[in-house]
Amino acid sequence: MANPIEMFDVIVIGAGIMGSCTAYETSKRNQKTLLLEQFDFLHHRGSSHGESRTIRATYPELYYPKMALKSETLWREAEEQIGYKVYFKTSQFDMGHKYNKALQAVISSSEKNSIPVRVLDRIHVLEEFDGLINLPEDWVGVVTEYGGVIKPTKAVSMFQTLAVKNDAFLKDNMEVVEIKKVGGGVLVSVKSGEVFWGKKCVVTVGPWMKKLVKSVTGFVLPIQPLETTVIYWKIKEGFESNFTIENGFPTFASYGEPYIYGTPSLEFPGLIKIPVHGGRPCEPNDRMWVPTLPLDPLKQWIQEKFGGVVDSTKPVMMQSCMYSVTPDEDFVIDFLGGEFGEDVVIGGGFSGHGFKMGPVVGKILADLVMDGEAKDVELMHFRIDRFEKNPKGNLKNFDDQVSSAH
Ligand SMILES: Cc1cc2nc3c(=O)[nH]c(=O)nc-3n(C[C@H](O)[C@H](O)[C@H](O)COP(=O)(O)OP(=O)(O)OC[C@H]3O[C@@H](n4cnc5c(N)ncnc54)[C@H](O)[C@@H]3O)c2cc1C
Repeated sequence: MANPIEMFDVIVIGAGIMGSCTAYETSKRNQKTLLLEQFDFLHHRGSSHGESRTIRATYPELYYPKMALKSETLWREAEEQIGYKVYFKTSQFDMGHKYNKALQAVISSSEKNSIPVRVLDRIHVLEEFDGLINLPEDWVGVVTEYGGVIKPTKAVSMFQTLAVKNDAFLKDNMEVVEIKKVGGGVLVSVKSGEVFWGKKCVVTVGPWMKKLVKSVTGFVLPIQPLETTVIYWKIKEGFESNFTIENGFPTFASYGEPYIYGTPSLEFPGLIKIPVHGGRPCEPNDRMWVPTLPLDPLKQWIQEKFGGVVDSTKPVMMQSCMYSVTPDEDFVIDFLGGEFGEDVVIGGGFSGHGFKMGPVVGKILADLVMDGEAKDVELMHFRIDRFEKNPKGNLKNFDDQVSSAH
């Protein structure tokens, strides 16, 4: 006799940060939850692995800062429950040409979201960071207190552990190949032949989203996987401690072309992470695993901005990772629709800036799948149908920056 099909309230597909936070949320709300992952848990083949992600509340768009602030509170709550730290706070420093539209939008959106900002010229930036950050004459720097580093692999593990504590079921090496509407819910089939039934389902499969949604519905979502490279550089001898959080060094972003970001020296003493935001379109299961963008503009940037105390001649360590990029770099958080109606919810297209939002996205996805609507957040900018109205998605008046990851 065949085994009876296991039944759940919510099946979450994909155990990166978004799926792990969602499984935590639904299980916390007493839903019998199953989290399925195609590879080993905490693998390094998606988007949520590694040693550091920036958390910041500064965004050119008006609708992200409040989400980031909410997420910050939720990171702290999760840390308290688990009893260890994944979030290391510092300030955030955004910089760019004084007329850069995206940077100007950052200042205005921060003010509209009641986030105190200090706009500094090059002399005051030198004073603020002990002479370590050297801007050109016509650039400005923007300092806010909401910055920090999250340790991604440790953070995913934390939410998976908290989900298990809430009695969620976690299964890895389970590649979902089919989702079907059956008996007032959904039947989820795995490549190995196992089948699970859920009243509801949440799909958080990162760079595999376009492929899975297409195979289930035939619909092609504009979510492009990109292969990107995390790059570490050596701090020159004697200056190592200057770049640490303890000494007030911030997480940072440099607006313009290329868009460069980085985190203080933390995970590898003596090294600092300074990559370029962007990458090469890829097929998630057939990647090249080699650097994706020319290094010369980045080397020049490091040489100019860090005044010779970071060795810009060559990187000392590189790691490959994937983004899932939408044309407007805004998230996709919505019901799958069609025959699935509100029974299947998707969360994807996090476009290289989603990690910090994991806890708040988990809450939103849980709200949608359980209650049919999200509390305290406007999802208009994240709906799928925005691409029907305009294939480029949400209109922005700082397009120069949005195109950087394509
Ligand atoms: C180099 C790099 C730097 C970044 N820096 C920042 C930063 O500083 N700040 C920030 O906020 N964000 C940052 N991000 C973005 C952030 O990491 C991502 O937005 C986030 O990790 C996306 O998580 P996810 O859960 O959607 O995707 P993933 O982590 O890719 O998770 C999806 C999971 O689904 C699984 N899966 C796929 N298909 C199936 C299937 N058919 N069946 C079962 N499981 C499946 C995958 O194996 C994977 O584990 C960065 C990303 C990268 C790559």
